[in-house]
Amino acid sequence: MGRTVSETPARARATFTGMVVRVLDRRVGALTGDAGRAVATTHSFLGFALIVSMAYTAFYMTYDIIGLGGLIIMHIVWIAAYVGGLLLARLGRHLAAALIAFAVPTAQLVTATAYLGWEAGTHLYLLTGGQLVYITLTERQKVWRWIWVTVTLAAFLVCQFILPSDGALYSMPPVLLQTLFSINAVLTAFILFMGAALSHYRVEQARAVAAEAAERAERIANTDLLTGLATRRPVLDRLVELSSPDGDDYCLAIADLDHFKALNDEYGHGCGDRVLAEVGDLLRAQLRLTDSVGRWGGEEFIFVLPGSSSADAAATMDRIRESIAEAPIACDGHTHSVKASIGLTQGDHSGAAHAALRRADDALYEAKKKGRNQVVVREPSSAAEARMRDEA
Ligand code: GH3
Ligand code: MG
Ligand code: MG
Repeated sequence: MGRTVSETPARARATFTGMVVRVLDRRVGALTGDAGRAVATTHSFLGFALIVSMAYTAFYMTYDIIGLGGLIIMHIVWIAAYVGGLLLARLGRHLAAALIAFAVPTAQLVTATAYLGWEAGTHLYLLTGGQLVYITLTERQKVWRWIWVTVTLAAFLVCQFILPSDGALYSMPPVLLQTLFSINAVLTAFILFMGAALSHYRVEQARAVAAEAAERAERIANTDLLTGLATRRPVLDRLVELSSPDGDDYCLAIADLDHFKALNDEYGHGCGDRVLAEVGDLLRAQLRLTDSVGRWGGEEFIFVLPGSSSADAAATMDRIRESIAEAPIACDGHTHSVKASIGLTQGDHSGAAHAALRRADDALYEAKKKGRNQVVVREPSSAAEARMRDEA
């Protein structure tokens, strides 16, 4: 979806989860989208594993550097692998970094359990694999997800049921094993909590992006590209709303540019488009915020004027007609003066918007017949309305 990993919805930023996730989800290089988020998490996880491994190495060294020598040497190898993984993540080599983030801890935890026994609780970290695969690997890498879920689960079962409960290779006092178990259980819970928080946050983020895209698509669908006015749909929606029995009073008008075909024929379609765009600007500038104006189609425009009497609306539409006629529109070295005919009617609350549309269209036809460049008002007649409703 081409969003940078640092793009976060404002609401999520404000929450505690958002704050924690921002630390986890920091930008790694200039990666974007799903892969960017996955590599950011992989990077954070490798950093976490590196710190915990260094802490354990320091502990083993101070506790018994000779007796735990084999485990310490292995930890130095694991630490080097984590550093390599972090570098790969920074270089954007996501899959390689993610595979290190799973293979190394799995090997490390199984060996530590073989050394100290499962009572030390090091194998508990393997339980986090089922959650980590969803935030460190992308949808396109789902085969790897299954592989690693299976591997980590199998490794956990081996540690729990096959490896000894305490020191096959090194014996630690029970009280120390219990302390290690507690530390490892707490850190496992911490990883699970962070994984859950991050997953939740990612869902919120995806929802915000989808809502934004839908809003943008709707805005584009409701806006006429040439004139910048509304398309007919939002204006019709407003008309239907006002024509309901409990809607506000309103007037409806349709304007049609006079002899527009001739302008196109003489000066070209490009000039015609320019005129339409300028008329669009002019209409937008003339109306109240509560009024709706849209491009009805071709060189026709529709107006819905709520809270206006038909006399007020007629005055408004005549002012618009005049301003169109008086505005010189320049194109290709020519100056064009276009005129418009306008049909206006008082809206009704019959619930049938097409009745008012038909009246406005009839009024427009009459304006054309009477010589164009004028506003004609057609009041609703109750008998005619009743007939139209019956026909409908
Ligand atoms: P009248 O005074 O009776 O309305 O005459 P008219 O020529 O305006 O009416 P007619 O319906 O015959 O022609 C409308 C013209 O509007 C035809 C078409 O070429 C032009 N038109 C419709 N849409 C566009 C557009 O998007 N751009 C341009 N340049 N012209 C358009
Ligand atoms: Mg027309
Ligand atoms: Mg016309």
